[in-house]
Amino acid sequence: MNDIQPMTIANGEFYPGQSGSVEVVAGQLPSGNQVSISARVFRAYQPGPVVLFLAGVHGDEINGVEIVRRCIEQKIFEKIETGTVIAIPLLNVYGFNNFSRDVPDGKDVNRSFPGTSTGSLASRIANGLSRNILPHVDLAVDFHTGGRGTYNFPQIRYNTEDEKAAIAAKAFAPPLIFANRAPAKSLRRTTYKNHQLPVLTFEGGENLRYDAHSIDVGVAGIKRLLFDQKMLTQRPEENNKPAIIVNHSAWIRAGRAGLFQWTKKSGFFVRKGEPIGFIADPKSRKANKRLLSPRDGFIIGHTNSAVVSQGDALFHIGW
Ligand SMILES: [Zn+2]
Repeated sequence: MNDIQPMTIANGEFYPGQSGSVEVVAGQLPSGNQVSISARVFRAYQPGPVVLFLAGVHGDEINGVEIVRRCIEQKIFEKIETGTVIAIPLLNVYGFNNFSRDVPDGKDVNRSFPGTSTGSLASRIANGLSRNILPHVDLAVDFHTGGRGTYNFPQIRYNTEDEKAAIAAKAFAPPLIFANRAPAKSLRRTTYKNHQLPVLTFEGGENLRYDAHSIDVGVAGIKRLLFDQKMLTQRPEENNKPAIIVNHSAWIRAGRAGLFQWTKKSGFFVRKGEPIGFIADPKSRKANKRLLSPRDGFIIGHTNSAVVSQGDALFHIGW
């Protein structure tokens, strides 16, 4: 007699030591094609935590897709000796195909949590995840990049009051850790508020671009996190450089429109009054308008957009 129960995730059943794929149907496109969420499940023989690695919530944020894909390719999740890994390399397939952050209805999945089964397409996808996947999960990492030409220095963000996430962020050991308040109706804020599920948000690089450094940081962080959770037994490479800790941030915006060039970028400490970039009028012979840092801090993100409008976010400074 075997009294070991399978773990039932969506349409899949997983006994200890079993791996496989599951599919959650979340809605339908005008063409009749189904909107579904594909997840890979890796269950070890021994019990332990269930960790979710989720990427592509924003369809144009590719570094996370590559991080999770690379972990699958390198068979990292197949090596776990306790617990379960659920890997969703690409949640928003439709945004991915259209080079877009959003789903085809123009809405943002990461502003639609927990979602409903009768809401917008974004809300239905959020609901599919909230109902079928998240109830199994003890810890989640949600992989993002900067949006619309913004480069983010590789970092982990977590909810300020979430102590479990703070410990997990340290275990991930990224170059920068940022405790902040996630946006309303985001996965991180909603699931912590409703279910105290710790979620780490990884940010690294820019939308639609590979950033080799951010991808390496993400893969190494996953290994360290799984080791810390006692799921992997082989000690991963440590990050001996202590993380830069940031608790506050502000955007420096364009005071005027024009052609923008940065002279300092993500990954640099800056002093108040230090020149960090300039904006030029494309038709004028007048000198460029220099941008000075309004405070001491660390640049955690910057735009690579050459053409900027008044008010556009140019630098994200943390301290
Ligand atoms: Zn994102």
